[in-house]
Amino acid sequence: MTEKDDLRHKGMRKKLADGLKVKGIRNPDVLEAIRKVPRHLFMESSFIHFAYKDQAFPIGAGQTISQPYTVAFQTELLEVEKNDKVLEVGTGSGYQAAVLLEMGAKVFTIERQKELFLKVQSFLPEIGYHPACFFGDGYKGLPGFAPFDKILVTAGASSIPPELKEQLKIGGRMVIPVGHENHQEMLVVERISEEEYKTKKHGGFVFVPLLKGTVN
Ligand code: SAH
Repeated sequence: MTEKDDLRHKGMRKKLADGLKVKGIRNPDVLEAIRKVPRHLFMESSFIHFAYKDQAFPIGAGQTISQPYTVAFQTELLEVEKNDKVLEVGTGSGYQAAVLLEMGAKVFTIERQKELFLKVQSFLPEIGYHPACFFGDGYKGLPGFAPFDKILVTAGASSIPPELKEQLKIGGRMVIPVGHENHQEMLVVERISEEEYKTKKHGGFVFVPLLKGTVN
C-alpha cells in the first residue's frame, strides 16, 4: 500500500534540498522539484528511513534509485524548460521522471526491465505523475516520438548511442554518463545543426550500466 507523505517527510526534503544547494545545485526550479517529489514512496519499505539521505539505494531487479545529488545535477545540466519534450532512458524507480514532470516537462521514459516498467506504470499515476512509460531498449530511443528537446540517460553508456543523437532536436541537449563499468564522465551533448554536435564534460560519476536488449 502507498504510504503517506506528511509534514515530517516535507521537512526532511527541505533539508535534503538545502544540502544539495550547499553541494552546488543552483537552479531554484530543480531544488523546488526535489522539495516536492516524495522520494520515500519510490523506495522499498526497508529503506524508507534512508529516503532523504543523499545516497543511492536498491530498488529491486538489481537496479538503484540514483543519489539525489546526481538526479539534481543531471536535471540542472539538462536545462529543462516548461513544456520541453524530454526522453528519459532508464526509468528505474520513476523518481527522476517525477522530478522532470515537476519541472513542467512532458516526459517519455523507457525501461528495459519489464518488472520495473510495470511497477512504475501503475505506481506513478497513483501519486499524481503522468509520464508516458515504455518498455524497450533505450539504446534505440523512441523513434516514433522523436525529435526530443532534451534526452536524459540515467545509466552508464560505453559510448553515445547514435540513435539518441539523431532523435535530438537541433538546439536540443542530451545529458549522458559515458565511460567504463565503474567510472563514467558526465557529458552534455548539444545538437548544433543537422550534422554538428558539441560535447562538454562535467565530472566523474558511477551509474549502473546501460545494457542492450530487454528483460521480461
Ligand atoms: N532514473 C532512475 C535510475 C535508474 S538506474 C530513477 O530515477 O530511479 C538505471 C536504469 O536504467 C535501470 O532501471 C536499468 O534497468 C535501466 N536501463 C539500463 N539499460 C537500459 C536500456 N538500454 N534501456 C532502458 N533502460 C535501461
